[in-house]
Amino acid sequence: MYGRYGSDQLNKCVMVFTIAFMVISLFTRLTVFYWLALAGLILMYFRMLSKNIYKRSAENTKYLKATAGIRRSFARMKSRSQDKSHCYFKCPSCKQTVRVPRGKGKISITCPKCSTEFVKKT
Ligand SMILES: [Zn+2]
Repeated sequence: MYGRYGSDQLNKCVMVFTIAFMVISLFTRLTVFYWLALAGLILMYFRMLSKNIYKRSAENTKYLKATAGIRRSFARMKSRSQDKSHCYFKCPSCKQTVRVPRGKGKISITCPKCSTEFVKKT
């Protein structure tokens, strides 16, 4: 693998789609998914074995930039699902997310952004 680009985040994403297309093509027998999986596989190997490291790196940077918002929201969802000591609510008027301690019963929450009060069960 010396002088080759190897794997990166974009390749991992292509791999996930390739596996998904393979599974779909197995169950549905639609040839379009088979070809998509094959194309993904070829793209993956082409990128991994490419010697044009600069270009592959630029592609990965573009991909990371384009998916930054999606990846951030997934990371937020993950950290909130792991947070067992707090509840998260959205303010009904300004949509600001408010974090409150869990297990306090019915509480009145004051939004720190717009000062709207709303009652929620924690
Ligand atoms: Zn608010």
